[in-house]
Amino acid sequence: MGKIIEPLRGVHDVLPAQAAAWQKLERVTREVFRAYGYEEFRVPVIEQTQLFKRSIGDFTDIVEKEMFSFVDQGEDHITLRPEATAGIVRAVISNGLLRDNRLRVWCMGPMFRRERPQAGRFRQFHQIDAEAFGFPGPDVDAEMILLSARLLRRLGLTRLKLLVNSLGTPAARAAYRDELAAYFGAHEAELDADSRRRLAGNPLRILDSKNPQMQHLVAGAPRLLDSLDPESKEHFEALCAHLKSAGIEYHVEPHLVRGLDYYTRTVFEWTTDALGSQSAVCAGGRYDGLVEQLGGASTPGIGWAMGQERIVLLLEKQGLAAQRDRPQVYAWPSLKLQINLGGGSFKTQFKRADKSGAEFAIVLGDEEVERGVAAVKDLRRDVAQEECPIERINERMGTLLGLKAGIAEQA
Ligand code: ATP
Ligand code: MG
Repeated sequence: MGKIIEPLRGVHDVLPAQAAAWQKLERVTREVFRAYGYEEFRVPVIEQTQLFKRSIGDFTDIVEKEMFSFVDQGEDHITLRPEATAGIVRAVISNGLLRDNRLRVWCMGPMFRRERPQAGRFRQFHQIDAEAFGFPGPDVDAEMILLSARLLRRLGLTRLKLLVNSLGTPAARAAYRDELAAYFGAHEAELDADSRRRLAGNPLRILDSKNPQMQHLVAGAPRLLDSLDPESKEHFEALCAHLKSAGIEYHVEPHLVRGLDYYTRTVFEWTTDALGSQSAVCAGGRYDGLVEQLGGASTPGIGWAMGQERIVLLLEKQGLAAQRDRPQVYAWPSLKLQINLGGGSFKTQFKRADKSGAEFAIVLGDEEVERGVAAVKDLRRDVAQEECPIERINERMGTLLGLKAGIAEQA
């Protein structure tokens, strides 16, 4: 026998038993985006490595150590996408989709980051992604957040918390960065190795540290919100007012930053206390400089990404995962054929029918076939078996299953 080949670390299979939860998430996603007028955009999983380097930023975890990059046989430098925004911006520019100035799109698919695998953290994972281009005002920030809220609510998820913050303009952020460098520099001895590394390259990233020992230092750090430029402040206040009038509960979290460098002004995150330290289920923000940075005409942009594995975990934890897609009818042909297939006794076959999870069994024994009828047995309720002409079996099953669905809905 050959040696078993193990899956790669941090890469998982979605088993047939889990497919219903994934399908539910995908179905609701499509419905919600449709309702908001967002169009699906499918972009490649591989891109030129420099796309991610230029957009995400050199001093981010992703670019520093998490990208799956390689040089192919033709000397092309290729990276498996670690996130969707950069590729979408690239595609929007290369396809000239911004001629109308405005665009609302979404996409869904696998992302790749070479992180330390844990529950809710994988090396191949999946994201649902929304992006809107060409809207400078805070109303689209609100729309984006409402869209994610609608999706989470339609899935039935509860106990989620919305955090919002503003990172201001690049100029305000540069000044803040110096302020932070001075603050953390004065506490250098208390910093962990990761944070010390970030101190020189990107002190904002220290705020995103997941190390509990760093939390008191982070809590005492200066806040960009206190020194925001007047326009960013107005933008942020308008967003908060929109959220309030839409009845969306939110918490201003002045130390919320994102792991990618391209964000400006609004950033937000949906978190849960149900998944341990992998608490972020959806995160996003505004990136007004990114399109220009990647060679397009200056165009504001905003987007978010939702981690599908974490949502599926929540659906399972909160008992909201859709039922496994069981057959509705378990049927077997005439008795002779059963013997040929190793069918077993009548009792065995009913047991098997029962185990299949089906609602009904259709019995087509010799005697039934001779009379041109099928016997229909309800496997779940104690009601008398009935007979039905074979040519009408489709129609009769439709009625019976419809009745049952009606009963289940009323219950
Ligand atoms: P985290 O803080 O958990 O590392 P992140 O800030 O790196 O998340 P983003 O890049 O904003 O995450 O991605 C958006 C969402 O994608 C996250 O909120 C999370 O739900 C999901 N996600 C990110 N990385 C992973 C991963 N390695 N495995 C599974 N899901 C992930
Ligand atoms: Mg991360």
